[in-house]
Amino acid sequence: MQVYQLFIDGQWVDPMTQRWLDSTNPYTGEIWAKIPRADKQDVDKAVQAAERAMRQGEWSRMKPSQRGQALIRFADVLVEHSTQLATTEVKDNGKLFAEMSNQCRYMAEWFRYYGGMADKVQGTVPPIDKPSVLNFTRYEPVGVTACITPWNSPLLLMAWKVAPALAAGNAVVIKPSEFTSASTLEFAALSIQAGLPPGLINVITGLGDEAGESLVTHPLVRKVAFTGGESGGRRVNIAAAADFKNVTLELGGKSANIVFDDARIEDAVSGAISGIFAASGQTCIAGSRLLVHESIHDAFVQKLVTLASSAKFGDPMSAETQLGPITTEPQYRKILEYIEIAKSEGARCVLGGSAATPPAGAKGYFVKPTIFVDVQAHMRIAQEEVFGPVLCVIKFKDDQDAVRIANATQYGLAAGVWTESLRRAVDMSNQLIAGTVWVNTYRSTSYTSPFGGFKSSGLGRENGMDAIYDYLQVKSVWFYTGSPVDNPYIRR
Ligand code: NAD
Repeated sequence: MQVYQLFIDGQWVDPMTQRWLDSTNPYTGEIWAKIPRADKQDVDKAVQAAERAMRQGEWSRMKPSQRGQALIRFADVLVEHSTQLATTEVKDNGKLFAEMSNQCRYMAEWFRYYGGMADKVQGTVPPIDKPSVLNFTRYEPVGVTACITPWNSPLLLMAWKVAPALAAGNAVVIKPSEFTSASTLEFAALSIQAGLPPGLINVITGLGDEAGESLVTHPLVRKVAFTGGESGGRRVNIAAAADFKNVTLELGGKSANIVFDDARIEDAVSGAISGIFAASGQTCIAGSRLLVHESIHDAFVQKLVTLASSAKFGDPMSAETQLGPITTEPQYRKILEYIEIAKSEGARCVLGGSAATPPAGAKGYFVKPTIFVDVQAHMRIAQEEVFGPVLCVIKFKDDQDAVRIANATQYGLAAGVWTESLRRAVDMSNQLIAGTVWVNTYRSTSYTSPFGGFKSSGLGRENGMDAIYDYLQVKSVWFYTGSPVDNPYIRR
């Protein structure tokens, strides 16, 4: 059994209350680690350490180019340790090692990209239409940044926040999910090995309404970057608003993956599978609503069922495995509940529809890949995020019908369009209310391209060049070089 400590000011420390939480391996079903349950006092220590690091420490004295180089060196250390980080992540969240090892290597690119940007943030000299005045702007770090992450891709989603926050000159306190904290703790310790100053990256583990809330409401925290569910996001947004904190929210989705009758069918079937069954559907961008043109609906569903029914359950560490476990027991129960809701609403289950027997030697949480047809757009199964391997298929008649159904949810995270018509692809990408639209592909993201949601899927964007400005604040500096003030009661 591995027992972790908090990582504060470059040191491993016990939580003040000496309380720990269990971390369960979702494949074996066994407790494999203990994670500190931090409270307000621990959070305060971590935030104070971050505040010192960014205002008085080495980080505050470094030139922007040195900060950038330090982040690029950190990226190299992350790549060297990517197998270790991926292995820990798989023990915690049960996702396939094949995917996690790619993700952990790829995560380094965020530190290279934003490291490269650290010395390229520049202010302007706005032309002022008044005599004898010079005005310039400068960008300054926003302040201690809280990075709060969910359990499905802890390290990658954390890198989306930490890399631009540090490049901008801030220090961070990370609060990973209580279900998957170990990899983030190991990541933070690597920052010291890479030569980053103590206090720059601190990790507080524990419960959302305890450690998480204390972090969001700490007076020295000036920026909150949150990825998680809609209800957590709402609470964080409200709590942060009380102190006018800058907030970025990446929330849930119910993304439409739309297949037109002119699509390359084999590609679209594979895209539909990847949209919903990769990571057992536990991704915010899951294409959980599959909209299929009525003329190809039956044949398409047939192909989908054939391919999905051959998916191989197994140990997520094995290269042969295609479907791993559900990460947490509450999530497992939630998925099974939604399957029953779909049945009671009149949706017809053509594949799966129940828990799966764990593979030999495992005692974790498995759900069969599940496909519902005869789904109506208003049903709960078509409106609410399940976050599991449950696909609902909805028929549409024409392009306008597809747009109407696709846009008729509270979410707007992503959408997929499968068509060979360029005109239709462009028209769809204009009309779909979603932060990301993929054409003839699904699930691609990159550090260079903005990511985020419309409507209830979030606020602000991560990734891309503009994201660094969410971790900066602009100051306007005025110089007056004219003659003495003649009338102090008149604004100049
Ligand atoms: P969650 O909202 O339950 O928890 C996310 C994090 O917030 C955890 O670290 C949790 O401890 C913390 N938290 C919860 N309540 C809090 C509070 N009141 N104050 C401060 N922190 C709090 O989400 P989850 O179940 O871990 O993750 C699944 C959700 O995340 C899904 O809805 C999924 O769509 C979403 N998600 C979104 C994206 C995206 O980029 N849009 C990516 C991945 C996951």
